[in-house]
Amino acid sequence: MIRFNVPPYTGKEMEYIKKAVENQKICGDGDFTHKCNEWLEQKTGIRKALLTTSCTHATEMAAILCDIKPGDEVIMPSYTFVSTADAFVLRGAKAVFVDVRPDTMNIDENLIEDAITDKTRAIAPVHYAGVSCDMDKIMDIAKRHNLLVVEDAAQGIMSEYKGKALGTFGDYGCFSFHETKNFSMGEGGAILIRDPENIERAEIIREKGTNRAKFFRGQIDKYTWVDAGSSYLPSELNAAYLYAQLELADQITADRMKTWNMYYEAFEELENAERIERPFIPADCKHNAHMFYLKCKDLEERTEFIDFLKKNEILAVFHYIPLHSAPAGKSFGRFNGEDVYTTKESERLVRLPLYYGIKEEEVEYIIGKVKEFYKNR
Ligand SMILES: *Cc1c(COP(=O)(O)O)cnc(C)c1O
Repeated sequence: MIRFNVPPYTGKEMEYIKKAVENQKICGDGDFTHKCNEWLEQKTGIRKALLTTSCTHATEMAAILCDIKPGDEVIMPSYTFVSTADAFVLRGAKAVFVDVRPDTMNIDENLIEDAITDKTRAIAPVHYAGVSCDMDKIMDIAKRHNLLVVEDAAQGIMSEYKGKALGTFGDYGCFSFHETKNFSMGEGGAILIRDPENIERAEIIREKGTNRAKFFRGQIDKYTWVDAGSSYLPSELNAAYLYAQLELADQITADRMKTWNMYYEAFEELENAERIERPFIPADCKHNAHMFYLKCKDLEERTEFIDFLKKNEILAVFHYIPLHSAPAGKSFGRFNGEDVYTTKESERLVRLPLYYGIKEEEVEYIIGKVKEFYKNR
């Protein structure tokens, strides 16, 4: 069976975990966490990056930093993972869903302004498949309406918009290092903080409301409880695993890109014959080969497609059930405007196996089976 995903493993992870154990420093914010933070800062150009226990927690931190309160509204796509909404809903906010663009499956930037009310506090764009939203337009809307921006860049590490890293445009950016993402630490993530004046509060919230980070830098002689917070810092063991992969980030990305390009080129003919659609990468975007998806004709064809591949030992999967159609989405959110594409396009989308180290023969086998499915229809 060709699995849909295999967690990335490069070889040095165990050595680094052993090192963390030998250092007798396995709680958070040791050498490996600092190395990961610095890597993220260098790679993205952000002022401050902090590893977190997940992207969900990074987004929760961002919601606290944005002072989201009960009754506030946050604009986001309905076609996303639950965490984008959960983080704000936990603070009492309402999720206001906006339709996606069918070409990128990202929030339609032209529909955002219509969803703004006097309760709107923030916009949470999601960079689906590591392909950027139209950040120029979104940042312009935010500026004109005095809104905060929290980028869900869970899938967007190493991706760029107009030459600038995803996660660095909004007030806060959130990455995921879950085992399904390009680089992993099992469970984990990071928050990027754009403005210097928000860094200290972010450190405090992440450390149970204490100024412990300042203490460890020798800036104060004891640490104390200064604000409400939680525990959002991951263990050094997880950070050690991640650092081994960050060191090889270019190699991992190149390997994924090779697979992505093989799929993309192989399915050109099927797209030209209007049998399927391939992902669209806008000119301003550099992506990270996080995901390769196809769009079938409709839900029925997709179900047959997934079944056919499964019979041929290939695990292909569909993706998000739009949040506005889920029970919690109905109670915590509302869809602004008309759902023209969110449901329709999500029902056609299917993702093919793509992970670090997938063999060329396997990719070729998958391509052959996809072509066989459409040849026989
Ligand atoms: C993976 C993912 C998340 C959640 O990340 P965790 O690290 O598992 O919390 C959130 N949003 C999107 C778009 C994701 O793909």
